[in-house]
Amino acid sequence: MYQLIDGKTTSAKIKEEIAEEVKQLIEAGGKKPHLAAVLVGHDGASETYVASKERACKFVGFNSTLVRLEDTVSEEELLQRVNELNKNEDVDGIIVQLPLPSHINEQKIIEAILPQKDVDGFHPVNVGRMVIGLPAFVSATPAGIIELLKRYNIESSGKSCAVIGRSNIVGKPMSILLSQKADFGNATVTLCHSRTPDLKEITEKADIIVAALGKAEFLTGDMVKQGAVVIDVGITRVKSDKTKSGWKLLGDVKFDEVAPKCSYITPVPGGVGPMTIVSLLKNTLLASRKEIFQ
Ligand code: NAD
Repeated sequence: MYQLIDGKTTSAKIKEEIAEEVKQLIEAGGKKPHLAAVLVGHDGASETYVASKERACKFVGFNSTLVRLEDTVSEEELLQRVNELNKNEDVDGIIVQLPLPSHINEQKIIEAILPQKDVDGFHPVNVGRMVIGLPAFVSATPAGIIELLKRYNIESSGKSCAVIGRSNIVGKPMSILLSQKADFGNATVTLCHSRTPDLKEITEKADIIVAALGKAEFLTGDMVKQGAVVIDVGITRVKSDKTKSGWKLLGDVKFDEVAPKCSYITPVPGGVGPMTIVSLLKNTLLASRKEIFQ
């Protein structure tokens, strides 16, 4: 019988822990951590993500600022707004919600954020520091997955892991974190992607599988060995006549087939998703403590 890795309950617990730390910080005369989010345009998913980040900030006692810009904003104007936030001493963390309109160079914007305030962990300085094992802001989704594995006492050392997907924000950092020489890591990782010829041959041998490719129900029962740990990162919105909203979310894992073979598995929704926001909060708390770049 598999055990469900409950990201919803775990993230709620971590939020309580962060709220308690913030309370103590303020009692000791410190200031409230402050997260600034920049939202360009009116994309539905981005609006939802930013709103839930703001709600989470409020819950744990952070200050949050939302900078809203129209999707006609120039790259120069956006860079200027990021710069203002860089200079604002009260702001500890800055996120620019992606994707950005096509006339804006995303990489240029990411690199404009001060690494000390880059709580999304996308700046090359933070990515580089993470790769060589220095303290860094780590991309929120992989950081959240590591936290989930730790909290469920799932050992990674010596295990064989298959990470499916090589994006800069999920797959690549995930493969590095699982393989790094650290308290948690020390796994042998195969990073699979769209050009991997025989994926099944790799996944069926893996003790831990992280599916982050964005293809609904891609990982099927026959691709997974008995007793595997399966982490489903994917979120695909599909039409459904069974829900009130007319939509439902599907992960990258065919849950009904895969779960019975697993020792542990994350559901979608309620698995990795809620942990992502919690990692962002943790990074903002770290940024306010100025402990990463000393
Ligand atoms: P991406 O689109 O940037 O990258 C997808 C990766 O999957 C690519 O590296 C590609 O090589 C690989 N891929 C595509 N088809 C493949 C195949 N057939 N076999 C093997 N590899 C294949 O994706 P991303 O931004 O990393 O997101 C992946 C999924 O995770 C999406 O569904 C996204 O919505 C979701 N996501 C969830 C969270 C969360 O908080 N739960 C956070 C980020 C992303």
